[in-house]
Amino acid sequence: MPKIHNFGAGPAKLPEEVYEIIRKELTDFEGTGISLLETSHRSPTYFKLNTEVQDVVRRLLNVPSNYKIIFLAGGGQGQFAAVALNLIGRTGTADYVVTGAWSAKAAKEAKKYGKVNLVLPPTDKYVDIPDQSKWNLDPNASYVHICTNETIHGVEFDFIPDTKGVPLVADMSSNFMSKSVDVSKFGVIYGGAQKNIGTSGVALVIVREDLLNSALPICPSILDWTVNVKADSILNTPPMFAIYIMGRVLQWIERKGGLDKMEELATKKSSLVYDVIEQSNGFYYAPVAKNVRSKMNIPFRIGSPGNDALEKEFLKGADALGLIQLKGHRDVGGIRASTYNAVTVEEVEALVAYMKKFYSKHSN
Ligand SMILES: *Cc1c(COP(=O)(O)O)cnc(C)c1O
Repeated sequence: MPKIHNFGAGPAKLPEEVYEIIRKELTDFEGTGISLLETSHRSPTYFKLNTEVQDVVRRLLNVPSNYKIIFLAGGGQGQFAAVALNLIGRTGTADYVVTGAWSAKAAKEAKKYGKVNLVLPPTDKYVDIPDQSKWNLDPNASYVHICTNETIHGVEFDFIPDTKGVPLVADMSSNFMSKSVDVSKFGVIYGGAQKNIGTSGVALVIVREDLLNSALPICPSILDWTVNVKADSILNTPPMFAIYIMGRVLQWIERKGGLDKMEELATKKSSLVYDVIEQSNGFYYAPVAKNVRSKMNIPFRIGSPGNDALEKEFLKGADALGLIQLKGHRDVGGIRASTYNAVTVEEVEALVAYMKKFYSKHSN
């Protein structure tokens, strides 16, 4: 079997060094003689870990002191509900900027709990982000929700919107910790861990203090940010192992040079792929507008419209070389290469070499 290079969109590749640490710590966690998997969530051992993971989040993102960091079960989509349940009651209405499948889902979930204003005209072709001057923002909105990186459509914000004082809430599930972010520009940042910072089941939530204490009365306690801040993310048994893995991944990012380094690598890796696409005379085709092309998820077609037979052959050939999980999401078809933090430059170079070879064989 060839060496495997995993370009999956999520759950995605974890750094090899992190696996080594997990392997070492699995059955004897920090000298306790037992695994973290069988350790009480009320123990000093877990309390220390819980603090350690919050601390590394705070260091990496320079989280200001008026923001709380919590870990919640239910992943990214759990927070689709939590965002509305915790915030929409402030005015009864919320703005959603829908730039792809995930923000569309978030808006749909929020509708259960209040009025949702769609900031952009509805579309099913998510290939750009209209200029802010064209946005229909409601000054009375409780918050403005964006998804900073649309994992399926490959659309990534290249700016932080100006919401005129209305709290900005961002789903960063698929580009969390891929670059430095000015946290003070956001009211809430959240994301599931399994794309870029760990494994599934846990959401990392960073919430500004003044946005606490406004949950709807029907908000379940396990989704109530205020309750969970007070309980220091140990209200009930948390997804401890997922939180642990997230911590080890974040410490790995820190050792590697932090978020500026991750951004430098993300730019390098994604450019390698986009460059081959651009230089292929239309053989490969990336539908997303250049300024908002994602550095994490790169969807592309072979030809425009996509040539199903060639795409199948491309994927088959890629699999044979160990370049796996490259099939595009069923909503958009084609091919998608995810180049998260754990994917190395060498792995992307292997993909790009294959893309060039495939192009030479099939063009003209
Ligand atoms: C994967 C993903 C989600 C959903 O995460 P789950 O943990 O599966 O609920 C939400 N938003 C974005 C941007 C994602 O990529």
